[in-house]
Formats: sequence, C-alpha cells, structure tokens
Amino acid sequence: MQPSEFEIIRRYFERPAPSALLGVGDDAALVRLGEGMELAVSTDLLLEGRHFRPDADARKLGHKALAVNLSDMAAMGASPRWATLALGLPEADEAWIGSFADGFFALAQRFGVELIGGDTTRGPRSICVCILGEVPAGKALRRSGARPGDDLWVSGRLGGAALGLLRPGNAEAARRLHEPEPRVALGELLRDRASAAIDVSDGFCQDLGHILERSRCGATVHYELLPKCAAFAGVQDVALERRCVLAGGDDYELVFSAPPAARQDIAKLAASAGTDLARVGAIRAGEGLVVLDGEGREIAPPRGYDHFAP
Ligand code: ADP
Ligand code: MG
Repeated sequence: MQPSEFEIIRRYFERPAPSALLGVGDDAALVRLGEGMELAVSTDLLLEGRHFRPDADARKLGHKALAVNLSDMAAMGASPRWATLALGLPEADEAWIGSFADGFFALAQRFGVELIGGDTTRGPRSICVCILGEVPAGKALRRSGARPGDDLWVSGRLGGAALGLLRPGNAEAARRLHEPEPRVALGELLRDRASAAIDVSDGFCQDLGHILERSRCGATVHYELLPKCAAFAGVQDVALERRCVLAGGDDYELVFSAPPAARQDIAKLAASAGTDLARVGAIRAGEGLVVLDGEGREIAPPRGYDHFAP
C-alpha cells in the first residue's frame, strides 16, 4: 500500500531542527534571528521537463535543489540556516522519495541547514525550496555595489555544467552539472571585502550583466583569464568552450567585484574558502560588457539562458 501524505512527511522529511523554535508539524515554523542579523530569503523552482529529465537521479536532484538555493545565500554573503521544501510528486514512490531526501539532507547537514516545513502534493514532479539565511545588518552583498576601478573576480571554474549537458559521458562535466558545490564559505568571507556579487546560474556574461545594470557601470573581461572547467582540455573545440564558459548556466560559481585595495587580501582567501579565485577584469565607467581575447580583439558575448526566449 502506498503511504499517505502524512506518512511521507513523517518518514522522510520530519527531522530534528534544534535551532528553530518550531519545525515541521504545525501550521508554520518559528525561527529567531541572532542579535543584529537580517533575514535573507530566496526561493527556486525546479520542474521536470524544464530543469531536469524524468529519469534524473533522485539523490542528485535532492542535492541540486538545495545547492542552487545555498548558492543564492552565498551570493548575498548570507549564512544559510533554515529551508522549506514544497514537493509535487506523481506518486508515493518511496525509493525515489528516500533517495531524494538522502541527497537533500546530506547537503543540508554539511551546511548546517534545518528543514523546518514545506508542502507535499500529488501532481507533476516539481521541487520548490525556500531558503532562509542570516547576514549581519547592512552587510549583505548586493548586485548594485560595484564601482568603476573595482577588480572583477570569479571563483572555481566556468563552463563545466553546460558541457555536462552536451557531453553527458564526461564525468567531470556531469559532476559540475548535477552536483554543484555552493560557495557559501566564500560568500561569508566576502562580506567585508566585495562591493557586489552574483552567482552564475544563467551564464557568466548574463549574470555579470545584472551586476553592471544594477551598479550602472561597464566592465572589461579578459577571456584568457577566465578559469575554465578542466574537462575542456579533452574537448579541443574553441567555439564550444567559449559558448559554455561565457554563456553556460548552472555553474553556481560566484562573480564579484572588489576594490583593488582588497586584492592581496582576497587572493589569500582561496584556502579558507575552499575554491580557487581568479581576477578576470575590471569594472569601468559607462555601460556594457566587453570580453577580449588574447590578442585584444573583442569577443561577441553569446546569449545566456532565458526561460521565455523563443
Ligand atoms: P498545512 O495543511 O498547514 O499546509 P500540511 O498538512 O501540508 O500543513 O503539512 C504538515 C506539516 O508538514 C507542516 O508543518 C508542513 O510545513 C510540513 N511539511 C509538509 N510537506 C513537507 C515537506 N515536503 N518537507 C518538509 N516539511 C513538510
Ligand atoms: Mg500543506
């Protein structure tokens, strides 16, 4: 017999949430922020057929559904604390739900995030996580803070997730696509150092474009300096690499600006942040993004991801 909605919640999603005042089981959860902290809230919706295939690995989906939300906290310089999970499920498939919960909670535990509520309903498979985090008052990293003269930095490596979509047989690229590593520690370390930040979900050029628009600035980036996924070494296709690195989504690396005075300090963060950091260009007055190749010629930026593009 298939378990009821309430058995599913109790069996798979009701876990201790010691830092919340009230977790799963009531009409709403209750949490209290630390003294002098602001609440950072973000949500992401993943739909079968749009964001993942019907045969997608349930454990990896559990990981990714939380990871993309943790990445938004990282991009704000916020510390993730609590999450809610709204699930649409076509059936009460316990093997699927169990694997999904394993992937979700493995990542939640690593980042100290407690699941404090959600909703479970029968329907097309969909996953909506809402994440709640804390950031010291006034310290959140906004898209609007970049200033002409600031350095531009990128964490980790770009393009791997997009390559994973095109070449599913490439293990490194597939890992980047299905099991992204949110840069939470880096985001926290950037609070007092970066002027603006965003995470790469729709493509480097497009996401950096959001910083430029909000900050009313332009930027120049050197393609040679962009850190590229190691998997491209075996691909030998320049046009493909450029498309993936400049416009590929789903990498969940951080792109951020910081004044040159912070340069030495930021270069030393890599070890404590658990990721490489590359200085790839600079913010300038004016508008628009210019990407230059090794010879100083301009590379036309490819379009990033847009859900409503024709
Ligand atoms: P309501 O009728 O108020 O929407 P529900 O009966 O849907 O409450 O849910 C019961 C409790 O279980 C609530 O505390 C809700 O937050 C929690 N819950 C439901 N689905 C999930 C889920 N997938 N993960 C975590 N908590 C859930
Ligand atoms: Mg409900």
